Amino acid sequence: MSQVVLVTGASSGFGNLIARTLARGGHTVYASMRDTAGRNAPRVAEVRAWAEESGVDLRTVELDVLSQVSADAAVRQIVNECGRLDVVVHNAGHLTVGPTEAFSTEEIAGLFDTNVLGTHRVNRAALPVMRDQGQGLLLWISSTTVFGGYPPFMGAYAATKAAVEGLLRTLAMEVSRFGIETATVVPGAFTAGTEHFPHASHPADSSLAVVYDGRYDGLDAQVGRRLAELTPADAPTAQAVADAVASVVATPHGQRPFRTLVDPVGDGAAEVLEVTERVRVDFAKRLGIDDLWHPSAG
Ligand code: NDP
Repeated sequence: MSQVVLVTGASSGFGNLIARTLARGGHTVYASMRDTAGRNAPRVAEVRAWAEESGVDLRTVELDVLSQVSADAAVRQIVNECGRLDVVVHNAGHLTVGPTEAFSTEEIAGLFDTNVLGTHRVNRAALPVMRDQGQGLLLWISSTTVFGGYPPFMGAYAATKAAVEGLLRTLAMEVSRFGIETATVVPGAFTAGTEHFPHASHPADSSLAVVYDGRYDGLDAQVGRRLAELTPADAPTAQAVADAVASVVATPHGQRPFRTLVDPVGDGAAEVLEVTERVRVDFAKRLGIDDLWHPSAG
């Protein structure tokens, strides 16, 4: 069935591929971006031209996840145009690379603002609509950084992804009795096909970074390359993440998998997830609340 979908951070990378793939699958998709009249205006034009050429219902909408006003306006526009909002894909996110000590607290707070609080703003805008509908899907782009092996110099980023996991796992149970389902797609490191690594930001104060560079022989600058070297030639491309999202959306409501792992590097998250998923369900059973892992009608 055709769904109305909002994808955050759709100017590039997974978000852009997810928006196009879902639109190709027959859904009405809002590829949301920030600064649509400025820096991202060429991306908006590209998406619109592609949608027209492909004959799909792919639209763009302004959404800066740093602003509640922006999130509210985006959801309002979608509901005004379509009368509903079925799926939110929480994709917008940013990577920082550098010695953890070298980042100011403001820089780390800024990363949490985008990667963690950004999802909360969008949820605060979308959940009232989904609760009224008695149905919806929150689909989160998580990360194997939370579960698998992990390199140094990405500490702040890893902390934000772990924080998002904490939020989504509990929120999933809190919204299920409103008919809202939660699913996660968990990508491993994709060093190509997205702007994640190329657009990563570094500590503004480079003096400490130089100290670490000397002691670690520039290891922070090599992390991306080392991950790329671990990626087999026939590993899934970034499109596999979009295909995983499309598969979750296509699955009937109430039957969607909570976890879909797409890991080109094989960082061990698969093994860890096997255990965490068992524990997640078993503990809920002991508490007598395992029904909360599935949406129920009100
Ligand atoms: P990209 O850098 O290509 O995409 C990130 C997107 O987030 C961009 O469209 C960017 O928009 C957007 N964004 C950043 N800040 C904001 C904001 N304030 N408001 C709205 N949009 C914003 O990287 P990926 O596609 O790789 O990343 C997408 C998601 O996948 C992230 O959540 C990331 O953590 C996750 N992920 C990535 C992995 C990888 O290895 N690539 C692995 C695991 C998870 P703009 O162009 O305006 O900056």
